[in-house]
Amino acid sequence: MTSAVALDNVSRRFNGVAAVDRVSLDIADGEFFSLLGPSGSGKSTCLRLIAGFERPDTGTIRLHGRDTVDLPPYRRDVNTVFQDYALFPHLSLLDNVAYGLMVKGVGRSERMNRARAMLRLVELEDVHNRKPAHLSGGQRQRVALARALVNEPRVLLLDEPLGALDLKLREQMQGELKTLQRRLGITFIFVTHDQGEALSMSDRVAVFNRGRIEQVDNPRQLYLTP
Ligand code: ADP
Ligand code: ADP
Repeated sequence: MTSAVALDNVSRRFNGVAAVDRVSLDIADGEFFSLLGPSGSGKSTCLRLIAGFERPDTGTIRLHGRDTVDLPPYRRDVNTVFQDYALFPHLSLLDNVAYGLMVKGVGRSERMNRARAMLRLVELEDVHNRKPAHLSGGQRQRVALARALVNEPRVLLLDEPLGALDLKLREQMQGELKTLQRRLGITFIFVTHDQGEALSMSDRVAVFNRGRIEQVDNPRQLYLTP
């Protein structure tokens, strides 16, 4: 298996307390991998370490075999989707998605083409002129996904991306996310405290508790207490 993200004995402390405590993980290229655990168990910190928003106190993090110690977030080939999608309210959907490409210096016509293709992928092409306020929660989350994917990252980090949606929409989006991930073949690392969500989508799940990983396995092999 080709390794996309590898953590080796990584720790991160805040005020002397380990949020992430000697965590080792090896996530394969193209895997749908979930970090599951209660609030405060270190899942988000782990994701921020992979993104490069935090630095480990000890241990190493490799992306596609490359040590990240000197690699700033914008050079990591990784993008993140959060629960609060933080779309720009004054921009159309198309411009919201194209924005990340402008920052990277991609020319206007290519920006528009790629942003349109991404909106097509999440089935929002016909409403590309709308502003975020005119969308449903599920649609906004799909725009946030399109925006994170337009740069063609090799790894997408998702921090409770469905947490703000109601149950029905959440189940629908679970299916959509899984389909999208399969189609694109990129690595998804998905943070959730919802067992059902982790089990229904993932190739493998890491179960977090108090900053440590208690088990890593595929959904059929996991031992979970309800
Ligand atoms: P989870 O994502 O599982 O809810 P987090 O990674 O957000 O867990 O948090 C793990 C622990 O680390 C919590 O106790 C949290 O309060 C603490 N923590 C996270 N980020 C910081 C920070 N920037 N400063 C201080 N404590 C933090
Ligand atoms: P999550 O939804 O993953 O639990 P949190 O609400 O714990 O996220 O954290 C949100 C932000 O607040 C993060 O940037 C984290 O670093 C910061 N944070 C979390 N816990 C603390 C803390 N105890 N002290 C300071 N900052 C914190």
